[in-house]
Amino acid sequence: MDKFEALWAYQEEDMKADAIAAAIKRSPTRQKLEKARDFILDRQKQYKQIEEDVAAMVDRKDIIAQAITRSREQLGALQSRFEANPPQTAEDVKALLAEVSRCRDTIRQYEVEISRIVKETDANEKLSRNVRLEAANAKKSFDQLKTEYEEESKSKKGDLETQRAKAKEIMASVDPALLEEYETIKKHISPPVARLTHGQCAGCNTSLPSAILSKIKSGALVECETCGRMIIP
Ligand SMILES: [Zn+2]
Repeated sequence: MDKFEALWAYQEEDMKADAIAAAIKRSPTRQKLEKARDFILDRQKQYKQIEEDVAAMVDRKDIIAQAITRSREQLGALQSRFEANPPQTAEDVKALLAEVSRCRDTIRQYEVEISRIVKETDANEKLSRNVRLEAANAKKSFDQLKTEYEEESKSKKGDLETQRAKAKEIMASVDPALLEEYETIKKHISPPVARLTHGQCAGCNTSLPSAILSKIKSGALVECETCGRMIIP
């Protein structure tokens, strides 16, 4: 067999194998599987964020609870001061009452914030339960899809192996230098070999100058300047 014919025959079988491999990748079950995986990862991320938010809220709640305790102590101190040393003038009474009222306002504000935090924490915990439930359900369907996909791809993988073996058989008759060139070009464009048809590269339909045409016809190794494919007669 002519060295280019051998290469061409190899490309035909190699392309068939690649098509089977691509079909395996394109399988709707596999796509569903990937979607389910992305969904799970997304929910895990969301869940982690909620956990962080809740932890931050718990910290904030602790700080406020301490502040409330301090304000209450302050209030108690004011009361003791009042009992031990009652204010003598109307001005002193006014000042003390103002201080008591400031203290009570502070406590009230803290309490409002605490109840807001409690509400938000409850809401977040509910959300977190939902997110976890969604993730768990997605995991179930992921596992099921995975089994389906493995079952489904088993026969296709068998086909692929058969086809790869067929290509490999022909590979043995291909000139090693040509084969190396084939593999190099294939990294950039596939199929990597194109026929010369009506003075054009059949890969990209670019018309070739006559100098190139005679080079191809003489059996030299020529790459298309436009698409990079190896052009064979
Ligand atoms: Zn071309």
